Amino acid sequence: MPAPVIAVDGPAGSGKSSVCRAVADRLGLRYLDTGAMYRAMTWAMLDEGVDVDDAQAVRAAAAGVRIVSGTDPLAPTIEVDAVDVSVPIRGDEVTAAVSAVSAVPEVRSALVELQRAEVESAVRDGVGIVVEGRDITTVVLPDADVKVFITADPAVRAARRARQDVELGKDDVDVSRTETALLVRDAKDSSRQASPLTQADDAVVIDTTNLTLEQVIETMASMITRLEHA
Ligand code: C5P
Repeated sequence: MPAPVIAVDGPAGSGKSSVCRAVADRLGLRYLDTGAMYRAMTWAMLDEGVDVDDAQAVRAAAAGVRIVSGTDPLAPTIEVDAVDVSVPIRGDEVTAAVSAVSAVPEVRSALVELQRAEVESAVRDGVGIVVEGRDITTVVLPDADVKVFITADPAVRAARRARQDVELGKDDVDVSRTETALLVRDAKDSSRQASPLTQADDAVVIDTTNLTLEQVIETMASMITRLEHA
């Protein structure tokens, strides 16, 4: 298959970003982190002083925000109105506010349009793409060639996320606080009206609790290479 489209969903801290980037790099595919796009929109709302719990205000302000994603798996980029926001979108303020912004249907439809445009452009260029998020297998790309749901026990997800936070240089990292924040975000993302996080019936579930990163990469990469021989 010359340009496979791979859709990946899963809860926060499941390891999907590390896996997706590595698989895309190994197989020469592009990589789109849709969570970074929702985070970028949230950063823009906070930067403009918009109350993220006021859906009408978010809807109005979001219409004027231009988000551009770079899809190189070794160096993915994200810009808001030509400003590189890749560092601030990982901050606690954005993380705490992102579920409210991403629950606004107009935000979702605008970003889904951009996401599908990236996929079309990759396929047109004959490259293929790995797209990760919360509604990719169910809403954005229900006809993707491979659909995967990556998950892990909450305690393991929290420990991984806390380790990433330490690597990002954050002070005051606490695993049990990280787990609580992660579960709160999952609950909001899974219970919202617009495109909630759910497991697609036809997605392959990979529980990474007891797997190494390399084992998960290998599992996903072989699912994709098998396509070529189907
Ligand atoms: O993947 P990440 O944890 O960076 O995603 C940040 C947030 O973006 C999620 O908690 C969710 O609210 C939102 N999101 C979404 N739909 C996607 C990807 C992310 O609603 N496809």
